[in-house]
Amino acid sequence: MDNFDITIIGSGPGGYVAAIRCAQLGMKTAIIEKYNTLGGTCLNVGCIPSKALLDSSEHYHNATHNFAEHGINVSSIEADIKQMVKRKNDVVSQTCDGVKYLMDKNKIEVFTGIGSIVDKTTVKVTDSNKKETLLQTKNILIATGSKPNFFPGMEPDKKRIITSTEALNMTEIPKKLLVIGGGVIGLELGSVFSRLGTKVEVVEFAKTIVPTMDKTMVKELTKVLKKEGFKFHLQHKVKNVTNTGKGVKLVALNKKDEEVTLEADYCLVAVGRKPYTDNLGLENVGLSTNNRGQIEVNDNLQTSVPNIFAIGDVIKGAMLAHKAEEEGVFVAELLAGQKPHINYNLIPGVVYTWPEVASVGKTEDELIAAGKEIKIGQFPIKALGRARASMDILGTIKIIADKETDEVLGVHMIAPRAADLIMEAVVAMEYRASAEDIARICHPHPTYSEGVKEAAMAATDNRAMHI
Ligand code: FAD
Ligand code: NAD
Repeated sequence: MDNFDITIIGSGPGGYVAAIRCAQLGMKTAIIEKYNTLGGTCLNVGCIPSKALLDSSEHYHNATHNFAEHGINVSSIEADIKQMVKRKNDVVSQTCDGVKYLMDKNKIEVFTGIGSIVDKTTVKVTDSNKKETLLQTKNILIATGSKPNFFPGMEPDKKRIITSTEALNMTEIPKKLLVIGGGVIGLELGSVFSRLGTKVEVVEFAKTIVPTMDKTMVKELTKVLKKEGFKFHLQHKVKNVTNTGKGVKLVALNKKDEEVTLEADYCLVAVGRKPYTDNLGLENVGLSTNNRGQIEVNDNLQTSVPNIFAIGDVIKGAMLAHKAEEEGVFVAELLAGQKPHINYNLIPGVVYTWPEVASVGKTEDELIAAGKEIKIGQFPIKALGRARASMDILGTIKIIADKETDEVLGVHMIAPRAADLIMEAVVAMEYRASAEDIARICHPHPTYSEGVKEAAMAATDNRAMHI
């Protein structure tokens, strides 16, 4: 029987990053992954493949919509989805191979098979030939992630009624795609197909798309996506969706409780994800999941069994790769006797539409509900020289600060490369900067980042300059 300081179950961004940090800190580390490739949802069927297809489809969109204006004439442009998916697969396999390299480099032992907890110091690995290996371990870290969720009546058959996993491997460009759920996955994957010419219709239960996002961003993003061709059926409750052989038929109830029938080639079910704990053997150590399927942990990410920890999508909080990574590092450093800390208020969120939407801190509504006195500075992207040069003129940057102290409490932006731009706000907020601090920092010209400075100036004495 092998002996380890820590055994990690699941090799997604939570598990593999935890493994590296544990190994760096001198722990004998094992990681177990049931699939043949490492990297979990994020690398195999999540962040990386979706961004690869978003980038490819964005190139196509630019070629068909913007090149001529830039003075680039291309006579015939064709979207080859099979090549796009092939390139996406190459990106995925290079990235997953990179994780395997990092495991080897850090002398982390990788076991392929299903990991299940036998008792609090023993984990069993069962491989595809049913061969069992027992690992003796001082600590266990559960990082088993999540799976697509669905509700009765919308069960994916993975042929016409699909999840994100199948949408990332389409071999044809649908003429029409229905998306259940106007959240992050629905809008990102909807964008991929909309840019390739698919008519995309989103059926959303709530009053708006991405209901958790700041209301100004919701308004702007809705406008941008409608312009791109999206159609939204808001406040619609899906009754059922059926595979008709050649397509799908969806029946929903609108807000007046009237039946609405929609038809399309495919239906993407994107109504959230659920924690994954199948075959984990939680019951063998007296652990169970809560009513949301999550493993309960305390502030140290520790379960009620002191040497068993859990991180990432399988516990509470945002289902984001970078949140899982921070938690992996946290557990490793805690076990090494350090005093790590995660600022959950400053985990940025991004929707990779074009323009991208990025946020950190609190939304306007959250601050108002908390009784905060606030002031808001906003600056439109189209007023930036860089935006006009690149023809990327859609979007706005919004900074919310405390009315009294000027401390930045939330930053929300819809802007080109907002996913990267938001980091200025994250750093500023980590150091508890005021809007005035950001306004006084010299920003390079011409860049989109000047919009952050201008929004900060707008928040302090309404003194934005280029508007
Ligand atoms: P996972 O990545 O889900 O990894 C868990 C791993 O554990 C899996 O490989 C699974 O096979 C393995 N496992 C489970 N049970 C066992 C077992 N018993 N034994 C052995 N192995 C087991 N997040 C972002 O931050 N940015 C994005 O752009 C983004 N895009 C996304 C796009 C899509 C389409 C999807 C679906 C998700 C996206 N996410 C994104 C979310 C992100 O993928 C997850 O938040 C992240 O992967 C969670 O990491 P994790 O380590 O907790 O779990
Ligand atoms: P989500 O929670 O972002 O969105 C789900 C949407 O479906 C919500 O708008 C919700 O109101 C709606 N909905 C729920 N039930 C419904 C019903 N019965 N009928 C119609 N609409 C319904 O979930 P998702 O888009 O599936 O993404 C899952 C997770 O993956 C998210 O937590 C997200 O953080 C993560 N993710 C992140 C990124 C990123 O960071 N860019 C990208 C993709 C996924």
